Amino acid sequence: MNDDRYHDTDGDIRDTQDEKEEKDRPDSEYEDVCFICRRPESKAGKMFHLPNHICVCEDCMHKTMDAVSQFDYQGLLNQPPEDDGKGNRFPNISFVNLADLQGDGGIPNKQKIRKKKKADDKPEIDIRNILPPHKIKAKLDEYVVGQEHAKKVMSVAVYNHYKRVATGTMDEIEIEKSNMLMIGPTGCGKTYLVKTLARLLDVPLAIADATSLTEAGYIGDDIESVVSKLLAAAENDVERAERGIIFIDEIDKIAKKRNTNARDVSGESVQQGMLKLLEGAEVEVPVGANSKNAMVPLATVNTRNILFICGGAFPDLEEIIKQRLNKRTSIGYTAELKDKYDKEKNILSRVTVEDIKKFGMIPEFIGRLPIIFTLEGLSKEMMVKILEEPKNAILKQYQKLLELDEVKLEFEPGALEAIAEKAMEKDTGARALRAIIEEFMLDIMYEVPKDENIGRVTITREYIEGTGGPIIDIRSNSLEHPDRLNVIESSSAK
Ligand code: ADP
Repeated sequence: MNDDRYHDTDGDIRDTQDEKEEKDRPDSEYEDVCFICRRPESKAGKMFHLPNHICVCEDCMHKTMDAVSQFDYQGLLNQPPEDDGKGNRFPNISFVNLADLQGDGGIPNKQKIRKKKKADDKPEIDIRNILPPHKIKAKLDEYVVGQEHAKKVMSVAVYNHYKRVATGTMDEIEIEKSNMLMIGPTGCGKTYLVKTLARLLDVPLAIADATSLTEAGYIGDDIESVVSKLLAAAENDVERAERGIIFIDEIDKIAKKRNTNARDVSGESVQQGMLKLLEGAEVEVPVGANSKNAMVPLATVNTRNILFICGGAFPDLEEIIKQRLNKRTSIGYTAELKDKYDKEKNILSRVTVEDIKKFGMIPEFIGRLPIIFTLEGLSKEMMVKILEEPKNAILKQYQKLLELDEVKLEFEPGALEAIAEKAMEKDTGARALRAIIEEFMLDIMYEVPKDENIGRVTITREYIEGTGGPIIDIRSNSLEHPDRLNVIESSSAK
């Protein structure tokens, strides 16, 4: 195939028409993938370009040639000639129907791997451009309410991590990876913190659920699928993925199962399987698909610089901590009341590695998550702040929606408290807030656009509690004489 190239007058090898087309294509930032073995150019080496944008790597080309040369032509030749009237003795053998393989051999872009950047391309993460921890935290503050300790720890860890990525292994002092383990009740902002962080840093993020992971070969996603997800989030750009963040939620669900004789394919073995990923390994992952099979190209991703953050609620961990603390106090002379710690609010923050081991995480696993920190459960005051303070607070979103109808939306302080109180009852953290708001805002969003005279809607505590309605101000009143009208009730009575 290479013979199609021709030498110009200077003796330089010129591309064939097909190759030129290939290079001129707008998506040529993608690597070529061998049509036979599905390996990308970066792994398989030089590709032969066949007509119809089919590429075959050198290995496969040789194998094909070998197979062809060992074919028993002799036997075929010795057979009596076919009586086709033209004296043609060769059977009509067709290896591949090229017409079926138009375009890129059916490989969509989502299964293609982006080419590695050339050395002179500017690296995206430059050590001088990494935001210092206080700036990272200040940015997080704009979105995440409370969790001061968690934000501080994360900012420093991320700062160090990307310093490590930027320096590479230039000297012998290797900076340890800053993988993290975050412990906190459901709905307190674990996922939200990681999402915000990834967005601020402009790095790809993959979120996986530890409950769906199983040891390779069992039903469920195998562990390396998390890297595959990250590659997809990085739009198949291997280099970008290699600097990304993988968040594994519900990590407490892969604790060692106690009192079981059966093989623990989704607990301890998953922890074992994750060890090499957490530390840094080269993994071959399918591109644009969940499982490896013959039709999917594979990419090699090095997880050395991928930041792993694991999160979980760790129920019962408080009990383990209390037991440990109580044991300690009851031994000494100053033995105190056994239930001294029962009433302590933020007992989780006293967690130690020993407690987590006792919970069922294996020592090697915890050892690879050197940064452990806890998040507080949300209080009523925090809930109120979450409603109105973050840059993209839920209330701000509704206010903006109604602003487009030129209607002002306001909330009485009592109303915010009532929403927070209702959310606290549900015990699902801030996640409950949106559900509650959506429930009562539905009527408002439905009724308000009906009447062009409405200029302002004020949500009251009574409305949230179902004992009254919102205050509706009519535009013609210049908002000066608020008139308590129960628009919602009267309209629903129709
Ligand atoms: P989990 O801790 O279970 O991962 P999430 O991070 O998914 O909880 O929180 C659910 C939602 O609650 C988030 O999408 C976010 O909108 C809101 N939220 C939770 N905690 C906070 C917080 N501290 N500040 C702002 N919003 C929060």
